[in-house]
Amino acid sequence: MINNLQDTTILHNGVKMPNFGLGVYKSQDGEEVINAIHYAVKAGYRSIDTASLYFNETGVGEAIKQCGLPREELFITTKVWNSDQGYESTLAAFEESMKKLDLEYLDLYLIHWPVKEKYKDTWRALEKLYKDGRVRAIGVSNFHQHHLEDLMSVAQVKPMVNQVELHPFLSQVELRAYCQSEGIAIEAWSPLARGRVLQDPTLAELAAKYNKSIPQIVLRWDLQHGIITIPKSVHEQRIIDNADIFDFELSVEDMKKIDSLNRNERTGQNPDYFHFDF
Ligand code: NDP
Repeated sequence: MINNLQDTTILHNGVKMPNFGLGVYKSQDGEEVINAIHYAVKAGYRSIDTASLYFNETGVGEAIKQCGLPREELFITTKVWNSDQGYESTLAAFEESMKKLDLEYLDLYLIHWPVKEKYKDTWRALEKLYKDGRVRAIGVSNFHQHHLEDLMSVAQVKPMVNQVELHPFLSQVELRAYCQSEGIAIEAWSPLARGRVLQDPTLAELAAKYNKSIPQIVLRWDLQHGIITIPKSVHEQRIIDNADIFDFELSVEDMKKIDSLNRNERTGQNPDYFHFDF
C-alpha cells in the first residue's frame, strides 16, 4: 500500500525501512545539509541517506540532534567508501562515521561500490557489526547480479538492500527481478537522473495529465514499482514537493509508458568499469 511518506518496506530481517527518504550527496556539511534535513523532517521524511564520501556526516548528526524526533523514528543510512574496504579498515571506517554522526546505532550500513578483491572482506566486517547490534541492517550499493551471486556464495547474512542507480532512463528491470526473487530490497539512487528527467517530453506530458511535476511523476513511479527512493534537494519547496505524491495514482498504462523510456543510460559509472583506485 502506498499511503504516505512514512510507509515502509519490511527488509528480510524484519526491519522496517521507509520507502522514501532524503539523499544528501553534494549537500554541503554544516548549514546546508542541516537545513535540508530540517525541511525534510518537517515535511514528514524519516529517512536520510549519507556516506562517508559525502563529507557531511557531522552535519547529518547535528541535524538529527536538532530535529527533536526520538532516534527510533529516524532511519539513517551511511556507506563505507572504496579506499576503506577490507575487514579491519571497514570496522575503523564505521567507528569514524559513527563518531561524526554521533549515533549509538546505525539503521543501514552499505558497501558503497563492489571493490574487486575486497568486498567479501568488507562484507565480513558488516556482518560483525550487524551481529554485534551496531547496525540494524546491512546491504550493498552498485552491485550487479554477478557481484551479489559472488558475495552470497560466502556470506552468512544476505544483504538486505541493494542501492543502485535507477530512474526511467535506467530502469534496471533484470536486477530488480533478481533482487526481488532473493528478498533484497532495491533502492534507487539518482532517482531524478540528477535532474535529467526534467527535459523528457513523455514525462512532461504525464506531468500535465496528472497536474503534477515531472519529479513527482517519477518518484511516484518508483513507489508504485516497490522501489525505495531517496531524491536529493537542498531547497525547501522542492523537498516538500518531491514528497507530495500520495494524492494520485499512475495508471497501469502510464506506468508502462514510463517503463518504455529505459535506454540503459547512466549518469554515474558502471560498477564493472569503476576505477576504485582512489
Ligand atoms: P537526484 O536524482 O536525486 O537529483 C538531485 C538533483 O536534482 C539536484 O541537483 C537537485 O537540486 C535537483 N532537484 C531535486 N528535486 C528537484 C525538483 N523538484 N525540481 C528540480 N530539480 C530538483 O540525484 P542524486 O545523485 O543526488 O541522488 C539522490 C541520492 O542518492 C544522493 O543524494 C545520495 O544520497 C544517493 N546516491 C548514491 C550513490 C551511490 O553510489 N550509492 C550515487 C549517487 C547518489 P537542488 O538540490 O539544488 O534542489
